[in-house]
Amino acid sequence: MSAKFNLDSSGGTGKEMVTVVIDLDKCEGCGDCIDVCPVAVFELDNDNKKAKVVDQDECIVCEACVTQCPNEAITVSE
Ligand code: SF4
Ligand code: SF4
Repeated sequence: MSAKFNLDSSGGTGKEMVTVVIDLDKCEGCGDCIDVCPVAVFELDNDNKKAKVVDQDECIVCEACVTQCPNEAITVSE
């Protein structure tokens, strides 16, 4: 299954722009954000052992990652 989510939030004219940012100074690579994100926005970067944003366009702004991150390293904004 490779179908992509195509979320249309509020019947607007287009999809909202979402920005997901990880503060790498705070991230310790615990992977919690990767586990909780329902749409696979994050992956573990094997080079520096920290999370990285790979598909922020999929973000549905559920804020699970923001809540889950023990270091308050993630910012999600529209
Ligand atoms: S939950 Fe926070 S500390 Fe853990 S990998 Fe994600 S951004 Fe890094
Ligand atoms: S707000 Fe939700 S959908 Fe967006 S990156 Fe965080 S966990 Fe994933």
